[in-house]
Amino acid sequence: MIVVIRQGQNEKQINNLRNWIKSLGLEIHESRGENSLILGLIGDTSKVDIDLIRSLDIVESVMRIQEPYKNANRKFHPEDSIIDVSGHKFGGRHFQYIAGPCSIESEAQIIGIAKAVKAAGATLLRGGAFKPRTSPYSFQGLRADGIELLLKAKAETGMPIVTEIMNINHLDLFRDVDIIQVGARNMQNFELLKELGKTRKPILLKRGLANTIEEWLMSAEYIMSEGNMEVILCERGIRTFEPYTRNTLDLSAIPILKERTHLPVIVDPSHASGLARLVAPMSLAAVGAGADGLIIEVHNQPECALCDGPQSIKPDAFAQLVKKIDIMLPLVGKERD
Ligand code: PEP
Ligand code: MN
Repeated sequence: MIVVIRQGQNEKQINNLRNWIKSLGLEIHESRGENSLILGLIGDTSKVDIDLIRSLDIVESVMRIQEPYKNANRKFHPEDSIIDVSGHKFGGRHFQYIAGPCSIESEAQIIGIAKAVKAAGATLLRGGAFKPRTSPYSFQGLRADGIELLLKAKAETGMPIVTEIMNINHLDLFRDVDIIQVGARNMQNFELLKELGKTRKPILLKRGLANTIEEWLMSAEYIMSEGNMEVILCERGIRTFEPYTRNTLDLSAIPILKERTHLPVIVDPSHASGLARLVAPMSLAAVGAGADGLIIEVHNQPECALCDGPQSIKPDAFAQLVKKIDIMLPLVGKERD
């Protein structure tokens, strides 16, 4: 971090700042020009409140040269992290297909879809039990009963399962869930993130509806700083001014994240576009951009789905898509299970 001191400040005030910086365990490298003084802060500046320094009268400007996230930073962990989810690996050369309905609706529905997506090549099963809906009058999910049904589908098919947590008080229900999803609306629920950081479950951390990549990585940092290093990032589109799609898929986030972090990155083309017919092209684009996997909403009867029918594809469309992506994977240096 670099702090530029305003011209004409008295030494006493500058000294107070020096002493405060040193009290944070940092060293200072000073450069003095004819009319300027620059303090270079050396050490772990991730705990320094940049806005506090910026607000001091004697400070002209402050620049961070090191990112505020440490555990998630590729600088300190140059190799890709490989996260093993019940034998299925995320990151590095590995590629995973997660598929299933937006919401678990009944035993027949979840088991039927689980079998169909498995036959088509899916390696993990998704399904929402606790649903974050914009309206309190919309279907809220089958909640604990939904998790029970998802566990039945897991037992029946042998597929590891992914489902969303909204309240840390429900954590006991997630004991046999393989990946706990933190949805877009909870990306900055910091108390939830801290508690999940104390677990040893892989966490699928979706990008917030209107969050920057750095804010997203800081949320990963909340989980990791509590000791849980198993974080998988999921780009699911961000809110923009464009109304033709539900969200705008930020494909450039994938290569940017690959530079900045060692964590696996997957893409959700379903929530990103909101339209079933865009799921295939957005999936192919995501693979081309370097994604480590996809999470796709698949429903056997999208027209009757209780949630997100318009963006759900049918099992046979999913099977066609998997075939195309399987052809692409060697071109991007990836292989599926
Ligand atoms: C979901 O996966 O069904 C979901 C609600 O996703 P998001 O949090 O990305 O909106
Ligand atoms: Mn959904």
